Amino acid sequence: MAFEKKDNKGGRPMNRKSRKKVCTFCVEKSDFIDYKDSQKLRRFMSERSKILPRRVTGTCAAHQRELTVAIKRARHLALIAYISD
Ligand SMILES: [Zn+2]
Repeated sequence: MAFEKKDNKGGRPMNRKSRKKVCTFCVEKSDFIDYKDSQKLRRFMSERSKILPRRVTGTCAAHQRELTVAIKRARHLALIAYISD
């Protein structure tokens, strides 16, 4: 019986640029997310103006929730587009 070397099957890929993801807002210690700061909000949106999921941006749950509200507010005020193509 041959014992083959396990090559990380089932485990998550470790060497795929595993940059430690930390919440940007926690790092900045910002108590609130400024909806007027459209430049910043844009970083958490896809090029088609969709809000990026937490697993992509690394934002924590609490801040992601705030971010969503901020983005929606900014959209309403036409600071950022609903859809950009
Ligand atoms: Zn956070």
